[in-house]
Amino acid sequence: MLTNPLTKNIGPQNTAIDLAGYRAAGGYSGWRKALAGDPGDLVKMVQDAGLRGRGGAGFNTGLKWSFVPRGDDSPSIKYLVCNADEMEPGTFKDRLLMERDPHLLIEGMAIAAYAIEARTAYIFIRGEYHTATARLEKAIAEAREEGLLGENILGTGYSLEIHLHCSAGNYICGEETALLNALEGKRAVPRAKPPFPQVSGLWGKPTVVNNVETFCNIPHLIDLGVDWYKSLGRGEDAGTKLFGVSGKVKNPGTWELPMGTPIREIIEVHAGGMRDGLKLKGFLPGGGSTDFLGPEHLDLPMDYDAIGKSGSRMGTGTIIVLDDKTCPVGLVLNLTQFFARESCGWCTPCRDGLPWAVKILQRIENGEGRLEDIGLLQEQVRYMGPGNTFCALAPGAAEPIQSALKLFEQDFVEHIEKGCCPYL
Ligand code: NAD
Repeated sequence: MLTNPLTKNIGPQNTAIDLAGYRAAGGYSGWRKALAGDPGDLVKMVQDAGLRGRGGAGFNTGLKWSFVPRGDDSPSIKYLVCNADEMEPGTFKDRLLMERDPHLLIEGMAIAAYAIEARTAYIFIRGEYHTATARLEKAIAEAREEGLLGENILGTGYSLEIHLHCSAGNYICGEETALLNALEGKRAVPRAKPPFPQVSGLWGKPTVVNNVETFCNIPHLIDLGVDWYKSLGRGEDAGTKLFGVSGKVKNPGTWELPMGTPIREIIEVHAGGMRDGLKLKGFLPGGGSTDFLGPEHLDLPMDYDAIGKSGSRMGTGTIIVLDDKTCPVGLVLNLTQFFARESCGWCTPCRDGLPWAVKILQRIENGEGRLEDIGLLQEQVRYMGPGNTFCALAPGAAEPIQSALKLFEQDFVEHIEKGCCPYL
């Protein structure tokens, strides 16, 4: 039984980066199967399989597709968009898929476009991902030449064009509505939701935006079926996931593992455990905009609900490990500097709140902080919280700060009392 559908073609030889290699490995059989079926059935299949969005939010993918209006009185123009603007700190999973198996993404997008009855699709790719861009460009051209994309695909009457768009570069462009504005050539600021893009998205037309890894799940799901897909997960959630680990572990990297794999197994077995002489102090489970968890959470399964119940989020599933010799204040300062720089400036709590948080964190890290600064930071974090902003940037940026203040409070106090960073 196939247990690694996302990475089965990824090995040292790069055997599947061109169409011939991808086809030799069974590629595009999901696409052929999909084209022989009814679009509505595909949506139901993806929904029943329980595939949840791999960009970070974990929304049910088939349910998202089901919101797109269909039928005779629905808009004739609909769009599909792949969010390939991977910029979450510590996250390096989509790049692997696009560079090493570009046709898997093209096939997943083709099936999704057919399912929602879209005839135009875009890949919005991070500007720095040059290798991925070149390989996807070639893959799209190869697929067109073979009649797998373009007009009247494989004689079915269905037509689809996929276009690549390179981001001009900003973290906010990964937020789906800011991304749509950027694609339209406007300033990349988030739009108010609702309406959600599935109803009114690109140029006001129904649009589905999904992450790269989400699309890469589709070809095998359609080819091998719902029961097979569900059986891949070890916990509540279905399928496999690209998990990653960065920080001072022996073997940082990214691996495809069943959903529900315990965090301890990911860090200790796959990432080889902490480097000699270091202990795990805490970790961010899913990129820089999640809450810190402590060693007591190591036995949690990596699935959306289990991590959600622990007070954090699975996010992108790429773990950032904090060891006992790295300053947690410095780490949080570094992350907050990134989020402050990347704020689009659209809402006040984000535009002004993040630079304030940087100032306070910098003061504490420099040994110039006051005990009142801790309360001040907590207050700033509340202002940046959910419901106060257009998008998830500031609430996400607040997560590592608020959790560090709880888990590592003693470190903040020590910086202030000693008048210097105790880790230097
Ligand atoms: P969200 O929960 O608002 O939305 C997730 C998806 O579900 C969206 O496509 C949205 O349209 C849809 N959705 C949600 N509620 C809906 C509803 N009621 N009706 C119809 N559709 C609905 O989250 P978001 O702001 O899109 O994403 C935030 C996540 O992105 C964070 O969890 C963060 O971890 C992640 N993130 C990832 C990266 C990256 O590089 N991969 C970068 C930044 C953030």
